[in-house]
Amino acid sequence: MTKNKLGINTICTHLGEIKDNQFGGAISPIFMATSYPFMDVDIKRYPRYFNTPNQQAVGVKMAALEHAEMGMPFASGMAAISTVFFTFLKHGDHVVLQNEIYGGAFNLVVEEFDKMGIEYSFTDGVAASDFESKIKSNTKVIYIETPSNPLLTITDIKTIADLAKKHGLVSMIDNTFASPINQTPIDLGIDISIHSATKYLGGHSDICAGVVACSEDHMDKIWNKAKNLGGNMSDFMCYLLERSIKTLGVRVERHNSNAQFIAQYLEDHSAIYKVYYPGLKSHPNHHIAQKQMSGFGGMLSFELDKKFDSVRFQKRLNLIKPSMSLAGVESTILLPSKTSHALLTSAQREAIGISDNLLRFSVGIENKEDILHDIEQALKES
Ligand SMILES: *Cc1c(COP(=O)(O)O)cnc(C)c1O
Repeated sequence: MTKNKLGINTICTHLGEIKDNQFGGAISPIFMATSYPFMDVDIKRYPRYFNTPNQQAVGVKMAALEHAEMGMPFASGMAAISTVFFTFLKHGDHVVLQNEIYGGAFNLVVEEFDKMGIEYSFTDGVAASDFESKIKSNTKVIYIETPSNPLLTITDIKTIADLAKKHGLVSMIDNTFASPINQTPIDLGIDISIHSATKYLGGHSDICAGVVACSEDHMDKIWNKAKNLGGNMSDFMCYLLERSIKTLGVRVERHNSNAQFIAQYLEDHSAIYKVYYPGLKSHPNHHIAQKQMSGFGGMLSFELDKKFDSVRFQKRLNLIKPSMSLAGVESTILLPSKTSHALLTSAQREAIGISDNLLRFSVGIENKEDILHDIEQALKES
């Protein structure tokens, strides 16, 4: 199969699959071996070399979805992010990071980079000038995340990729929230696209995994580092992830339409002060989202009117469950003020736009009327 001619759902369903030559079964067999021959073979296989049959199957599928030359699975999103950082950043180097990034990536930077002698700057905003003003003579990497967590900020991917090229920097994106169904950053000039596959790629809240997609040149370097750091994904997880990605296109389509419907509904609702969703015309960077995304994703955030108690509201929900994670087929909700941003004071949170009444909503694939009904009944009593 030549991957360029295939539609996205065909790629999801079939690309990379391992033929079952023994029994002709319909799915990739799982190869759990940790021991393979080394003589007279093309590939010396070993799980921590990221080249077992099931690891390769996920890599091939993800490369096709991300429009990249290569894809590689990792044990978690953070294993992928840290391996890529440490491939391209060493003692004395500097990285420019978008101001609003995933909490785990933020902690990795502020808790580990100083110790390793890696310098970093966070931007003040997401305009190209915010990134350019932070570039120094020792800058090696630009790192972005769009849409971002939890405020769904949209960064102009092509502008940042061009800026990185102009300064000879490696550009990286955390593409988790969009998924490759809605956004293919490598087409826009980004060097390396990274996912927490724990989220949409896995999609059923039962896999912890990460993926990196990029050119062969970059992957060679990442692979050399990855072997040393050892964040490889197990073959059983690879099998589960391959299975999950078969339905990625169909799931994300439904996440997109449910979230768009609910975002619009909440925007017109008297109990809701504000809605953050890139698919809304009121989103400040809706025009950029339209340019670089083919769908706007299943994540949105909204702020309840001040007269409501957000904790009470969350407890009153029946169908929509509180969850630290996101992007499963089931609808889940999280209060950033009580979780990711709990260490900040209320005033500090307000300053960055995360009020105590802000809720991050991962819209599932249930019937949208049932999701709305749950929100309505919870509002009545809150
Ligand atoms: C969850 C998440 C990560 C980290 O992934 P893990 O699989 O938990 O290591 C990174 N980026 C984003 C945007 C995420 O949501």
